[in-house]
Amino acid sequence: MNIKTITCGFCDGTGKDPFGLLSAASACQVCIGRRAVMLAEPVITCVFCQGSGVYPCQRLTCTVCGGKGSVTALSARAAKCPDCRGTGATPDSGLPCLTCKGRGLVAT
Ligand SMILES: [Zn+2]
Ligand SMILES: [Zn+2]
Ligand SMILES: [Zn+2]
Repeated sequence: MNIKTITCGFCDGTGKDPFGLLSAASACQVCIGRRAVMLAEPVITCVFCQGSGVYPCQRLTCTVCGGKGSVTALSARAAKCPDCRGTGATPDSGLPCLTCKGRGLVAT
């Protein structure tokens, strides 16, 4: 399994907490200030946060990708999730889709 280094989505590669919750200089909680995070291949953009690493409408890390902005795809052959239509979010509640766990894709 190959490990890929990607730019941290939560801080957008700055290494700083994007919201400055503790202080403006506090390190990003996702990459611990390293500006990059590692993921096993194949890596896809997290559809739930659209790669931002931020839980929609909240100042929290995305629960689907853990704030990285990308996730490891379940398999190279994946199809759009029929329940959320690939958005990763449950239409009614806005919570991560249970069928695809917020990834928008299901293994075929
Ligand atoms: Zn970061
Ligand atoms: Zn995400
Ligand atoms: Zn889904």
